Amino acid sequence: MLGKLARWLIILGYDAAYGGEKGRSDASLQEQAKREGRIFLTRDTRIPRVAGLRMLLVRPTRFEDQLRYVLKALELKPDRKKLFTRCSYCNESLASVPRDEALAQVPPLVQELQTEFWRCGACKRMYWGGTHTQRTIEKLDRWGI
Ligand SMILES: [Zn+2]
Repeated sequence: MLGKLARWLIILGYDAAYGGEKGRSDASLQEQAKREGRIFLTRDTRIPRVAGLRMLLVRPTRFEDQLRYVLKALELKPDRKKLFTRCSYCNESLASVPRDEALAQVPPLVQELQTEFWRCGACKRMYWGGTHTQRTIEKLDRWGI
């Protein structure tokens, strides 16, 4: 239910694991969150409490409100320098890739960009600065984040 929220927390540079895939029980997700020392975010008001696991009930329904709500509740102050430091698919930290090495792995149009390149250590996706990162920053500005 909170997949979009999780993706944006990752874009902001936070270590956010998304457990909303089908077939996982709440209990197993809570167990994982507890084991990994995470805060469990949920919209489900009936989910049972688990000893030793901090939970946060995300009440807002609109995504931007959810994001602002979570940042405030957890006293997080997003740092623009941490933007795009994690893979938004698997939550792994990205590693910088030398330009020469990166050029062989990105589309021709991207090769012309004067930008830095990063790679996810898990899924090997390549990331680079471009128009989508600019749009993301504009959204954050608009949301006051
Ligand atoms: Zn990845």
